[in-house]
Amino acid sequence: MGAVSYRIREIKLSPDDEKKRIPEKICRKLGLEESDILEWKIVRESIDARRKPDVKLVYTVDFVCEKEGLLDRKGVKISETPDETYVMGKCERKPARRPVIVGSGPCGMFAAYVLAHAGAEPLVLEQGAPMDRRVKDVEKFWKEGVLDTRSNVQFGEGGAGTFSDGKLTTGIKDVRVKKILEVFAAAGAGEKILYSSRPHIGTDVLRRVVVALREEIEALGGTYMFDTKMSDIIVEDGAVRGVETESRDGDRQVIPADHVILAPGHSSRDTLRMLAEKHIPMEQKPFSMGVRVQHLQSVIDRAQYGDEELAEKLGPADYKLNHRCEDGRGVYTFCMCPGGEIVRASSEEGGLVVNGMSYSDRGGKYANSALLADIKTSDFGSDDPLAGVFLQEKYERLAFENGGGDYSAPETLWKYFKEKSPEAGPVRDSLPGYVTDAIIEAMPHLGGKLKGFDDPDTLMVAIESRSSSPVRILRDRESLQSVKGLYPSGEGAGYAGGIVSAAADGMKAAEKVISSINSSDK
Ligand SMILES: Cc1cc2nc3c(=O)[nH]c(=O)nc-3n(C[C@H](O)[C@H](O)[C@H](O)COP(=O)(O)OP(=O)(O)OC[C@H]3O[C@@H](n4cnc5c(N)ncnc54)[C@H](O)[C@@H]3O)c2cc1C
Repeated sequence: MGAVSYRIREIKLSPDDEKKRIPEKICRKLGLEESDILEWKIVRESIDARRKPDVKLVYTVDFVCEKEGLLDRKGVKISETPDETYVMGKCERKPARRPVIVGSGPCGMFAAYVLAHAGAEPLVLEQGAPMDRRVKDVEKFWKEGVLDTRSNVQFGEGGAGTFSDGKLTTGIKDVRVKKILEVFAAAGAGEKILYSSRPHIGTDVLRRVVVALREEIEALGGTYMFDTKMSDIIVEDGAVRGVETESRDGDRQVIPADHVILAPGHSSRDTLRMLAEKHIPMEQKPFSMGVRVQHLQSVIDRAQYGDEELAEKLGPADYKLNHRCEDGRGVYTFCMCPGGEIVRASSEEGGLVVNGMSYSDRGGKYANSALLADIKTSDFGSDDPLAGVFLQEKYERLAFENGGGDYSAPETLWKYFKEKSPEAGPVRDSLPGYVTDAIIEAMPHLGGKLKGFDDPDTLMVAIESRSSSPVRILRDRESLQSVKGLYPSGEGAGYAGGIVSAAADGMKAAEKVISSINSSDK
């Protein structure tokens, strides 16, 4: 029969065990000799803390072996290794006009990656700055409260995810996910993200990875135009003909194009307004609002592992909590950053929004996450497709004012928030009442699920309002186009939430552009 690649699950090690003991464990399960295993590779590592503090590391492993009859071993989760290859597309001809990508976030970046490898020489327009200058602009905002509305935590090379925890977890099941992790790993994110059940990069490493990917795309004929905002879209006879751009100094130019991948992210509100004025079809989409909460990381480690010392071996613990309120409104934690910090993430004058960030070592003293309540479209207060954006803007302005008008974030402690006492006023007044009430109802239940989560001194910082986009730009399910040649994609278009799903959506759009180029007579 020859050598076969198998995939075996639930190989358990204790945190002190070395990974090189894995073949021995496989042999014991299958009655093999270690010499029977020709090669092996970890494909998944997860933590099982159900019997804490007796915490286990659980592995899924691919191994090659010539022995027969392994698949029908009772009680062993084993299969042949599935084919998870992602096949990169190729342009059979040079496109008459270079495809244009609006936005260099994960969606735009991976669309450019696929198109560049296909030989399409994509043109990436990014209103913000290249990485080195962007980092300076963001640090200036954090240190001096000086906001650059085109180069900040939301806008610039790498998009919104750059100043983040760089968590690569996702709920989507898609063959592109493995490819995305491989591309990140090859660009400097390291091997561990390929098998960790909680893959994360950390902002320090992510910044380097984004630049490495840009350089790879440029080496393949792609071009990045920074400080270049797509200010208008040219549509004639129901098809895209090009885009108009505006530089930082206000210079405008028209770039002819037959294919435009629109990956503006969830914070590009002037772009959304421009598209609405152009009657590009869009609809309201539910989203969430709330606060960022912060605890000592040791409290979370103790609650999750049963022994905070285990964090040394397993890394800082994370959590994911949710509760359904009596009125049906959901409250849940989101984008948890172990060993991270709360950051101000504004992109508009006079608006204050927060988010979370951590470095690759997740070595910070605190753990934070967004604590959000559902915002239904019925809460929007009008039928305008952009009504959700107006709601975000309203409360971000309130948070700005309640924080003192200098981009400081209003904050309080849970003990004041739950009593609606004056100390919590600036935070409470930065949120819709139904959000405050939902959080107050949910917190004790969440504390019941994770010991210490509702500690009276839990810090609460306002406002978290950009966990996802409140708008969806409509597109054809099959062609992924809105008007002919326009591909609304990623988080801003309402088709993704998070780095990996945005990247996967960008790849899908690029695949459609390649097949359009290959089938066109131009
Ligand atoms: C602080 C923070 C932390 C986060 N942490 C995580 C995390 O750990 N894990 C995770 O999965 N997700 C995280 N997210 C969410 C994640 O960043 C987004 O889901 C993801 O970046 C969406 O990708 P995107 O490419 O669709 O849009 P974006 O990343 O928002 O990129 C859009 C880009 O388009 C540019 N642009 C917009 N309009 C125009 C225009 N008209 N012309 C030219 N350029 C334009 C913008 O400047 C921006 O750079 C975080 C977000 C923030 C803000």
